[in-house]
Amino acid sequence: MLGLADPLEDLFQKMNSGEDLDEDDIVYMYDMADLMSLGRMARSLTDRITGRYTSFVSNMILNYTNICNVRCNFCAFYRTGKEDDSYLLSGEQVLEKIRYHYENFGIRQLLIQGGVNPSLGLDYYTGMFSAIRDEFPEIGIHGLSTSEISFISKKEKLSFYDTISALAESGLESIPGAGGEILSSDVRVKLGRPANSGDEWLKVMEDAHRQGVRSSATMMFGHIEQSRDKARHLLSILELQRKYKGFMSFTAWNFEPGRTKLEETGQVKYRAGGADVLRNIAIARIVFNKDLPVIQSSWLTNGLEMGQLAVLFGANDWGGTIYDEKVIPATGKQVGNLRKDFIINNLKQIGMSPVERDNLYRVVKYY
Ligand code: SF4
Repeated sequence: MLGLADPLEDLFQKMNSGEDLDEDDIVYMYDMADLMSLGRMARSLTDRITGRYTSFVSNMILNYTNICNVRCNFCAFYRTGKEDDSYLLSGEQVLEKIRYHYENFGIRQLLIQGGVNPSLGLDYYTGMFSAIRDEFPEIGIHGLSTSEISFISKKEKLSFYDTISALAESGLESIPGAGGEILSSDVRVKLGRPANSGDEWLKVMEDAHRQGVRSSATMMFGHIEQSRDKARHLLSILELQRKYKGFMSFTAWNFEPGRTKLEETGQVKYRAGGADVLRNIAIARIVFNKDLPVIQSSWLTNGLEMGQLAVLFGANDWGGTIYDEKVIPATGKQVGNLRKDFIINNLKQIGMSPVERDNLYRVVKYY
């Protein structure tokens, strides 16, 4: 017994007897359940899955271009290509950045994300990935959002499946969950995404998982979505996960409104607060349970202290050092550099056992 407030106790019993939580159960957890009870329940589930071990990865983000023709209402990063600060990195600039971070910080994962730049075709990506793999075989390439993959496949007249195969053959190891946001069509249209892009996200992920390319799952909350949209989003991911077990982790990250159209038009005035962040972490843990064992803490948008609390509310992966990230600073929010010794220290402060991992969640070192 967790000493939880009812009816959360009932949900816990329902799960323990092997029954799935349904959409209404999840909406209840979003709208009514006591936050601290949710946190206790989520942490107890995590303790059963991975105990006190909490992983992290030494990584950098390569935002190779900010030119994008999608122009989402929630994005402050994109440029049309006409502005002075529009950019596209050359192959040599890409390698130079990676060399610096590999030599100075021993990165094991390269998270590659940019805009949907209409001037780029499959060759740019396969050339970049193979050059990176040849020079840095120890670094796992975790690359491209479903929007980028969808655009490449349309431009090259290839199926998603074949596009992913070509990318994987050239060195892509896994796919981040970017582009997931909230999968519901109504919400996506209001966010400036095509109505079918939620289904497309699921299809790209399924085609990747079918051929053994693993990925992460994400959700962006704290904008115009309702609790039911989030409940459906989580259940769609769970359904796909039960088919292929292809998701390695789940990250819920809160929308940063600064310098976005959603903020400019007054649709979103305030960013989600800490309580909302912790509620989303805890609910994700509870819904995914053992089916998707790794829940990330998402320190980047919330800071180190919230990163610690997220772990206490059920997360078991800190995420990465995220050197050189450019998307969040575009909103005006300052993001400092985080070295791995800070992560280790932050985890030890809350009684966790830090584990450095690689891109595919294999153990590199226990601390
Ligand atoms: S979120 Fe991605 S796809 Fe949307 S405008 Fe920004 S860079 Fe482009």
